[in-house]
Amino acid sequence: MAAQVIDGKAEAATLRGKIAQEVARLRDKITPGLAVVLVGQNPASEVYVKSKAKAVQEAGMRAFDHKLPETTSEKDLLALVAKLNADPAVNGILVQLPLPSQIDSQKVIAALDPAKDVDGFHPVNVGKLSSGLRALVPCTPLGCVMLAKTVHKSLAGMDAVVIGRSNIVGKPVAQLLLAENATVTIAHSKTKDLPATCRRADLLVAAIGKAEFVRKDWIKPGATVIDVGINRVPGEGGKSKIVGDVAADAKETAGALTPVPGGVGPMTIACLLLNTLRAACAQNNLEPPL
Ligand code: NDP
Repeated sequence: MAAQVIDGKAEAATLRGKIAQEVARLRDKITPGLAVVLVGQNPASEVYVKSKAKAVQEAGMRAFDHKLPETTSEKDLLALVAKLNADPAVNGILVQLPLPSQIDSQKVIAALDPAKDVDGFHPVNVGKLSSGLRALVPCTPLGCVMLAKTVHKSLAGMDAVVIGRSNIVGKPVAQLLLAENATVTIAHSKTKDLPATCRRADLLVAAIGKAEFVRKDWIKPGATVIDVGINRVPGEGGKSKIVGDVAADAKETAGALTPVPGGVGPMTIACLLLNTLRAACAQNNLEPPL
């Protein structure tokens, strides 16, 4: 039987609708604001930033865009971060990565007010997540867990394997799954016998960045597969297309899986809106509604 396709687009649309409703309900108290900072002209980053700003406005929030030249110094970027930290209209700050080589990304992340760190990358939020405290959690991992929970009411006791250990995806996904009481294995490029490790997984999260790397016979029959990968490969007619980290025929083995595109990607933006709403509520002593 072919796997259930987890419709990330539909899930994201539902979540965005709920967020917009809450923003409208809170209008006489707060209007959440997100500042998006883009340094340089990375074409992929420009596309992401545009779609983030559009989604923010559609949710009834305020978007503050800051486009800085490629040659921006670290000092100038840190000065902008300090200004945004101090601005009460700005509830969330997102500095689009990667940054040009003259800027130390870790320094910039550490300079953010953790309460406004809607990407969840600040060491305070990373520490809170691993200590099981309420924190702003990275958007893509949050979306992955939400999608897994559309298939399984509870992830407790499931054998989960996460391939990838980046600070942006792999490690925070693993922390969130642990918080959901899954039994978590983190695999990476030095893992011995990756196919056998994957075959143990009731829930497999692939965050590798290698096109169709996970083969259908690595997947335990009936398992749920969350494919985080975004890989551009040659398509028909000389055009390129986007594929995930999991082979297309994995749907013959998996019980449920996220498509690429239309799976994790749309949830990432919806979760950014959710984090901005949560940050705005926390900064105004309001209970987060979602
Ligand atoms: P990174 O390159 O930072 O990390 C990749 C991870 O995969 C590393 O931990 C690496 O292991 C592991 N890996 C690489 N090769 C192998 C291998 N042969 N066997 C096992 N593990 C391997 O990538 P990111 O975490 O930033 O992103 C992963 C993917 O997710 C990318 O395709 C990216 O585009 C996508 N992505 C999608 C998002 C979305 O919104 N849908 C958001 C963010 C990312 P090691 O640590 O040992 O090197």
